[in-house]
Amino acid sequence: MWEFETEVSKIIQRTPSIRSFRFPIRATDVSYEAGQFFFVTIKVDGDDDIHHFSLSSSPTERGYLEFTKRITQSAYSQALARMKPGDWARLRGPFGGFTLPPEPGKVGFLTGGIGITPLRAMLRYIADKGLSFDVTMLYGNHSWEEICFRDELERLHRELPHFRLEHALAEPPPDWKGARGLINGEIIRQFIPDYHERLFYISGPPRMVLSLGDQARNIGVPDDQIKRDSFTGYD
Ligand SMILES: Cc1cc2nc3c(=O)[nH]c(=O)nc-3n(C[C@H](O)[C@H](O)[C@H](O)COP(=O)(O)OP(=O)(O)OC[C@H]3O[C@@H](n4cnc5c(N)ncnc54)[C@H](O)[C@@H]3O)c2cc1C
Repeated sequence: MWEFETEVSKIIQRTPSIRSFRFPIRATDVSYEAGQFFFVTIKVDGDDDIHHFSLSSSPTERGYLEFTKRITQSAYSQALARMKPGDWARLRGPFGGFTLPPEPGKVGFLTGGIGITPLRAMLRYIADKGLSFDVTMLYGNHSWEEICFRDELERLHRELPHFRLEHALAEPPPDWKGARGLINGEIIRQFIPDYHERLFYISGPPRMVLSLGDQARNIGVPDDQIKRDSFTGYD
């Protein structure tokens, strides 16, 4: 476990409401697994305030840690929104077992919106390490514009021979041919026909994780084939 003071080195606007924050890793040689989370302390109106975040970066991306946050109206979010390169933060971690199995196999990623963060880290890790995971991902969003890491996911899709990516959109553009509405059992069955052979990873706000877990269980995925990462703090 590492705990260190650092400063923001880069801020990246991912969608109209989502931003990534990067922190350099200097003297401390921090190691972590793709999918783990860190506690992040920042100054909110002069006082320390702490939230935890999955890293959206992969350990193969050297020199920085990155987390990605939906900017809400909360005091913490608004302090983040005001942050600029050079501003102070304290990081502590890594924690969590929402990580890839040691042996490459068939996995299914189910998520929506901000829940993409640990899964993006895992996909980047799989691609950079050339691992032979077979990944099918269903990613739900409100609209095309709100898909976080959209261009990178498309690049990973081209890069990885065994990565199937399907977007489900609640309000798709007129010529949309993909899945529509919220991800449900029927959509999982349709886009992941071999769902019974896969280890599922479900991440995001608690209500979404609960609902996606129920949908998977209802079509017969056993509970021990489902790993969950619940972003407590969101409704
Ligand atoms: C393992 C893990 C990974 C996460 N990864 C991400 C991520 O990658 N991106 C992301 O945007 N968010 C992530 N979260 C959620 C994040 O920690 C914040 O809770 C969330 O972003 C809401 O913060 P806010 O500033 O919008 O709202 P706030 O107003 O700060 O929080 C909303 C309410 O929830 C309470 N609360 C805040 N955080 C927690 C908490 N962790 N547990 C219990 N109650 C809490 C607050 O006291 C408040 O009442 C993760 C959470 C967990 C547990």
